[in-house]
Amino acid sequence: MRPQVWAGVELGGTRCNCILGTGPGDIRAQETVPTRDPATTLSAIAEVLERWQEPFGAPSAIGLASFGPLELNQGAPGYGRIGATPKPGWQDVALHDFFAKRFDAPVRVTTDVIGAALAEGRWGGARELADFAYVTVGTGVGVGLIVGGRPVLGCHHPELGHARIARLTGDGWPGSCPFHGDCIEGLASGPAIEARSGRAAASLPADSPVWDTVTHALAQLAHTLVLSVAPRRILMGGGVLSARPHLFPRIRRSLELSLNGYLRIEELSSGLDRYVVPPALGTLAGPLGALAAAAGERG
Ligand code: ADP
Ligand code: ZN
Repeated sequence: MRPQVWAGVELGGTRCNCILGTGPGDIRAQETVPTRDPATTLSAIAEVLERWQEPFGAPSAIGLASFGPLELNQGAPGYGRIGATPKPGWQDVALHDFFAKRFDAPVRVTTDVIGAALAEGRWGGARELADFAYVTVGTGVGVGLIVGGRPVLGCHHPELGHARIARLTGDGWPGSCPFHGDCIEGLASGPAIEARSGRAAASLPADSPVWDTVTHALAQLAHTLVLSVAPRRILMGGGVLSARPHLFPRIRRSLELSLNGYLRIEELSSGLDRYVVPPALGTLAGPLGALAAAAGERG
């Protein structure tokens, strides 16, 4: 039998993180490849994984955690294929098939946000929880939903970042999502903050009123999550929130006001500061998500 070591690749818009190991305590190699056109990028990734085989042995499985949208239904002919992405050249790229042809190991594909959720569930801030949500607020707003220990996957992976919400009273700004205007992503993502404030999100003062609309939108997302899939915890991270931890008390307060005492369950009544929390794995959540996918979690 082959020794157990997994290879993972987190495919992002600007770079792809390759990783080899079995978890955060056993990372044997890591390397980054810039994201260019698909042929150049995938060949460069494959070369990294091939190079690792000499010192470390062949991986027992390969996990890919990619930007989407992706076909994730394992029975579908296009399993692991990228859908209608705005990234030039990447639509219809068959990620699974490329690596399956080149490597003698099972190739498992998931989205970047489901991967990060799986990693938080396996090693991070949602260990031993069968039901939780991982939210990333960055260039977009993504939600990885784990229910009954598995990622929610129906006819497609959920895209709750694009859900519509009740707007903050008096706020009529049209939002920045090219598809929906004022969906959650159109109100709370980094680009939405920039479109609204006219300045880089990183330079927006902590007392700007724009944060009221951002925290309101994220609390509305949490409200929807609580009432739909009833997660036992909601992890919220990504470039915006990891840089702005002072937003957490505001999101929690807004969620409490929005739920208005409707649910009397322990997770909520024992204090939202343990319910809506930052993720535990930080920047490693992405690459570890690819390892979690390799480890055989579905999604
Ligand atoms: P991606 O979603 O592409 O993976 P990140 O999660 O790193 O990227 O998030 C990038 C977003 O985070 C950008 O839109 C950027 O404007 C925003 N961002 C970075 N630093 C800050 C900050 N200090 N405050 C608020 N937003 C920030
Ligand atoms: Zn949208």
